[in-house]
Amino acid sequence: MAKKDIDWGSLGFGYIETDYRYLSSFKDGKWDEGALITDPNVTLNECACVFQYAQTVFEGLKAYTTEDGRTVTFRPDLNAERINQSAARLKMPVLPEGRFIEAVKMVVKANEDFVPPFGSGASLYVRPYIMGTNAVIGVKPADEYQFRILVTPVGPYFKGGAKPLTIRVSDYDRAAPNGTGHIKAGLNYAMSLYAIVDAHEQGFAENMYLDSATRTKVEETGGANFIFVTRDGKVVTPKSNTILPSITRRSLIHVAKEYLGLEAEEREITLEEVKDMAECGLCGTAAVISPVGKINDHGKEICFPSGMDEMGPITKKLYDTLTGIQMGKIKAPEGWIVEI
Ligand SMILES: *Cc1c(COP(=O)(O)O)cnc(C)c1O
Repeated sequence: MAKKDIDWGSLGFGYIETDYRYLSSFKDGKWDEGALITDPNVTLNECACVFQYAQTVFEGLKAYTTEDGRTVTFRPDLNAERINQSAARLKMPVLPEGRFIEAVKMVVKANEDFVPPFGSGASLYVRPYIMGTNAVIGVKPADEYQFRILVTPVGPYFKGGAKPLTIRVSDYDRAAPNGTGHIKAGLNYAMSLYAIVDAHEQGFAENMYLDSATRTKVEETGGANFIFVTRDGKVVTPKSNTILPSITRRSLIHVAKEYLGLEAEEREITLEEVKDMAECGLCGTAAVISPVGKINDHGKEICFPSGMDEMGPITKKLYDTLTGIQMGKIKAPEGWIVEI
């Protein structure tokens, strides 16, 4: 397989058009069988539900090359499950059993020349999405949909290694309480754009969102969950039904317990107790873990003992073990690595 002539090592985190994308349409109450197509543009009616009422949900996963040269994805069954939960919450039809993984395999295989080689630090980002496509003007769900998958080669999320970030406590909410905060949908991202641009203008990498109801509990950032290490070496992560259940977070908790022999738990975490934590990181598919060195709470700084130069020691162990599992260097739990 001849790889494309791309300088893999200098890829950023952006969109590059590839040869194929996947499309399946839902009409008259059922999904068609789906196929690969070549046109990167989508033509829809001006009144499509996705444009007017943002009826769209998405997923994000990576395909990459392992040390022994296999093209694989990481736990795609969890993305399949989650896109259906997101779709159900926005009154969209769910995908038939098996369809999601079959489509991911099809589109990655067709674009195999774009899967970056092992050791380049790059991967093929896979973006499945479902949207309401027919014209809707009164407030109601669409009755026609498209399930699409686009892929794009991306470089490491943070160039030159993961330097600890400085973030701030946000006065904005990421999503509505008891609303759609636990699903992966563009509407939550649209609502976070104002806060993220504002944070960047003030010199912060991200926003720490608090729970809307009491503003005392840690939720997540715009696109990643928090993971903390307590001073006695326990791994803890916020429990909340208004945050997105990160697959990376769930995998890290398993790694902490089963591979590193650490205590790990999902529980409510108050902003008050964050100052007593030893390490802090943001976790998600794009960067796996981005360490946080400092949190600014309205001018008051919380500085983690791990500092601003490198990841904390336990964060680093979690990171190395999970990326080792993903790359085939460490034996993965059953079903985590799915070959294309
Ligand atoms: C995608 C996403 C995450 C990270 O989830 P992963 O499954 O680990 O990639 C966290 N928070 C939000 C809001 C997200 O959209």
